[in-house]
Amino acid sequence: MTAIVLLWPIFYHPNTYIPHIFIDTISSMRLYNTLTHQREILEPPHDGIVKIYCCGPTVYDFTHIGHLRKYTFDDVLVRTLKFFGHSVRHVINITDVGHLTDDGDNGTDKLEMGAIKTKKTVWEVADSYTKFFLDSLDAVGINRPDVLCKATDHIDEMITMIRALEANGYAYQTSEAVYFDTSKFAEYGALTGQKLSDKKNAVRDSVHTDLSKRHQADFALWFRKVGRFSDHAMSWESPWGVGFPGWHIECSAMSTKYLGDKIDIHTGGVDHIPVHHTNEIAQSECATGKKPFSRFWVHHNFLNVENQKMSKSLGNFLTIFDLKEKGYEPYSLKFLFLGTHYRSQMNFTWRGLDASQKRLKTLIKSYSSYQADGGDIDDKIVMLYRDKFAAALEDDLNTPSAIALFGSIIDDKNANNQTKKEIFDLLGSTLGIPFGRLAKNLESSSGASIPPNEVINILNERNVAKSQKDYQKSDHLREKLATMGYLVEDIKNGESKLIKINR
Ligand SMILES: [Zn+2]
Repeated sequence: MTAIVLLWPIFYHPNTYIPHIFIDTISSMRLYNTLTHQREILEPPHDGIVKIYCCGPTVYDFTHIGHLRKYTFDDVLVRTLKFFGHSVRHVINITDVGHLTDDGDNGTDKLEMGAIKTKKTVWEVADSYTKFFLDSLDAVGINRPDVLCKATDHIDEMITMIRALEANGYAYQTSEAVYFDTSKFAEYGALTGQKLSDKKNAVRDSVHTDLSKRHQADFALWFRKVGRFSDHAMSWESPWGVGFPGWHIECSAMSTKYLGDKIDIHTGGVDHIPVHHTNEIAQSECATGKKPFSRFWVHHNFLNVENQKMSKSLGNFLTIFDLKEKGYEPYSLKFLFLGTHYRSQMNFTWRGLDASQKRLKTLIKSYSSYQADGGDIDDKIVMLYRDKFAAALEDDLNTPSAIALFGSIIDDKNANNQTKKEIFDLLGSTLGIPFGRLAKNLESSSGASIPPNEVINILNERNVAKSQKDYQKSDHLREKLATMGYLVEDIKNGESKLIKINR
């Protein structure tokens, strides 16, 4: 089978900002590594390309704002690496088969469940929720990865990897599945520090377990289309009979295909640590013989809504489009995310979103006012902020400190407008907040723009002339404003307002 890969070149979302100052520093960025339980310096890779694999969505339901928090930080991480001068190759997968309702081998396939619920085929379910996922990313300006790959397009690669595991003595078969033998991999569980015996005790009794499985922690690489899976809609031929792959093998196979045997950073939610990522490490390292599979394991924490876990039954399941419908600018949510460190649990509240929207609007309005004025960029001031910004991001992606700099820029008496605008653009492009575009949106939604200072000065001068009954001068200034694209309308109490002429 030919693998169809959705490839988006990095210019899919053109980042129009070109820094005024050339940044050529490869920083000593420190990231918290779940594998070593400490912050470590991300040394530049030998080939100069940081290879990053981010576990993507299982497309059986809507992408909610908790998911979006994770992808926002993946995007900020990639942008930050580029800001520091690294070349990056970024892969996200789409899981459209094999992810069971239990992260282990129990339960039913989530895609099959989605199909029953929506009365659609599994393929239709996958297509529609993949589209929803991508639309959600677009709504908050998350750049597409270099490679976006679907599990069902990579069955051949998974079969090849399972065969390698078999050849290396790490796999065995039962009548139901092909399993990875966890007892053969001494480092199994290194990510959690959990021993195999602890894991065995943690397995629930009530769920289906293949009695021929050698150890409770062993996990399926390939499920045969038998027993509870005899009606499984998605299936392929394989050396072990017709069936479908386990969830974990998908990520190992696609990561190897697009990034090679060893990668630099692997990301996912904290819920992936004990099973999915633990199993990925085992498979990848045992199939290729190369260690470590990933130098860094970066994990994002959960998001609650008004102190509760998000769920449909509680009616607090929110997507970015729900927020949009309520009149929120999607970037207000992104700005809210940036205010909490990615490793901290976050509590979404409507009050918090209101405050974030207000704060972002203030920044956008400030940015608009900077656009109007000329003046030379003061490179020294830009570098001062650039260094503070870099120090925040180098410190395990400390976005709360990074966004706090916007307040300092606004209040900075030494910086002229052009310099402030330059700093806003520099910080905004790295955090994925496009101030230029947001300013235009705000302008068109409010129907008004912030006039340049020069226009305001002439208007004030005209008001003075009018109050002094110097009508000749006031008329002359009114005409001057008209040539600059502004009409003056006199309102009560001697006040006047400006109307921008749309040309
Ligand atoms: Zn994964």
